[in-house]
Amino acid sequence: MNVPSADSVVQATNDDATVSRCSASQAGYFHDPFVSQLVRRPARRSPVINRGTYCRLVGLQNLIRQFLDACRNQQLPSQIVSLGAGFDTTYFLLKTDQKAPNHYFEVDFAETTAKKVMSIQRKSALKTILEDGWTTGNGGTELWSYDYTVIAGDLRGFETTVVPALERRGFDRTLPTLFLSECVLIYLDPTHSDAIIRWVSQHVPTAMFTTYEPIGPHDAFGQMMVQNLEMRRIELKGLLAYPDLASQQQRYYDLGWPSAQAMDMATLYAQLPPGELQRLMRIEILDELEEFNLFGRHYCIAWAWQSRTLPLLDPLTA
Ligand code: SAM
Repeated sequence: MNVPSADSVVQATNDDATVSRCSASQAGYFHDPFVSQLVRRPARRSPVINRGTYCRLVGLQNLIRQFLDACRNQQLPSQIVSLGAGFDTTYFLLKTDQKAPNHYFEVDFAETTAKKVMSIQRKSALKTILEDGWTTGNGGTELWSYDYTVIAGDLRGFETTVVPALERRGFDRTLPTLFLSECVLIYLDPTHSDAIIRWVSQHVPTAMFTTYEPIGPHDAFGQMMVQNLEMRRIELKGLLAYPDLASQQQRYYDLGWPSAQAMDMATLYAQLPPGELQRLMRIEILDELEEFNLFGRHYCIAWAWQSRTLPLLDPLTA
């Protein structure tokens, strides 16, 4: 029997994330006409998972859009670098809304970027979003255009290989940049993920870093998450190093950032506007509110920023 390599197990987590986003989008939680183009075998998720996916998306999208608005208001060019982007569709959503940054970069393993680049080439719903003049590179594992670039790279070599590859494709460390890492750092040894966060704090003077990460490995629910990772032979160090909101926030201070915050998904959900909660209830009833809150307390968004000009951002403000 062929045992999958540790990297291929981590790469497969992208399929799960994409199916969940597709499920929540098709149920009507949010509008994403692109994600279904990237899913091979769609599946319907439970209301708990759909709502968790919704909270993750709302929190991150609010931060992204506020960052872009803040740059635009001050007439500053902006960049987004999505680390471990998988089949994330944020670029396509922002581009459709005419809100895309000056340059949107994505990095993931070549195995994953090759599939994404192939889908973009094959699916007109995706391809038509790109501006004329784009090309593929590195044997079809990369896509290069003036405002959207997909790079094949291993984040464990961030400074030595990923940063030079980004800079070859136009990444400018002097510009305001949002680094996005959605459910990715957990899969890296903290030595590697900390090195990325530290590098950004030291080399990108106007920067924001946003992560979505699981937390709370020590209680009963957390133990289930741990077992699930162990069963798939996924390294636990990423989860154990920053196990709660306080350590997720402190991590940034320790790695050189002047400001940081963290919020769990149960808190974000509880603070949604009443009209939005009613809309969600109309999509599907959530009988398992307790289960959802338990789930929500085990995932968080953490965000840090350094800037003399950009204002403080908040995942609850649309
Ligand atoms: N960010 C996407 C999202 O939220 O839909 C994908 C999340 S998926 C759970 C984790 C992603 O991180 C996968 O696409 C995986 O290939 C990528 N990843 C994990 N470790 C990586 C590494 N060392 N280098 C590049 N990508 C990595």
